[in-house]
Amino acid sequence: MPRVRPCSTRCMIRLLLPSRCLACRARADMPFCARCTAQVRVLPPGCPRCGAPPSAGHGCWPPDAPIDATFTSYAYRGPVRAAIVAAKVGGARRGWAALAGPTAARLRAMGLAVDAVTWVTSVPSRVRTRGIDHARAIAVVVADALDAPLVRLLDVGPGPVHDEHYRATIALPGSDLVLVDDVLTTGATAWRAAAALRAAGAGSIVLVTLARAGGHPLGAVTGRH
Ligand SMILES: [Zn+2]
Ligand SMILES: [Zn+2]
Repeated sequence: MPRVRPCSTRCMIRLLLPSRCLACRARADMPFCARCTAQVRVLPPGCPRCGAPPSAGHGCWPPDAPIDATFTSYAYRGPVRAAIVAAKVGGARRGWAALAGPTAARLRAMGLAVDAVTWVTSVPSRVRTRGIDHARAIAVVVADALDAPLVRLLDVGPGPVHDEHYRATIALPGSDLVLVDDVLTTGATAWRAAAALRAAGAGSIVLVTLARAGGHPLGAVTGRH
């Protein structure tokens, strides 16, 4: 009679939290399986101000933008887009750390010195629905890479999606900050969040996002309130 081997703690963890490709859910080490990894486009270091790929003609942040520099790792398409959407909707907790790995490595190599790392806070009702403030999950990895404190510095008022109102939780006289979000699309959300930090006295703000949507009109950002 075959001997039945009991499931160890490690085995139970594998059963409950199997490591899967964040995009196609195939069994693989995170973040992506080999097939999806081949389709992931890692962006080279770009325009220091807005992070756009170096060769692209782009609408840079306007001169009055509250953001001094922008770093991003991926183009927001293919497996990266699928993974971010799945992690956001599904409230995946482990996926964000795996996705933020390359960004964190790049920032660690730069040795960026800042006073604190904060994130674009999600509206509380959305955090409850998703079970996670996803930008915070990315910011945890970024703060660790920079060896900087992670501090919640933004409150967000209720408002329609893409028109949230941000407010700094404390005065920030002359603080040099990293502001983290998942995706840079039009730039309007990052602008409003950064503007709130500036209004509280922040000295410099470096925006860090996992991904960047192509061809976005940063130069025409209108969310300046
Ligand atoms: Zn895959
Ligand atoms: Zn630029």
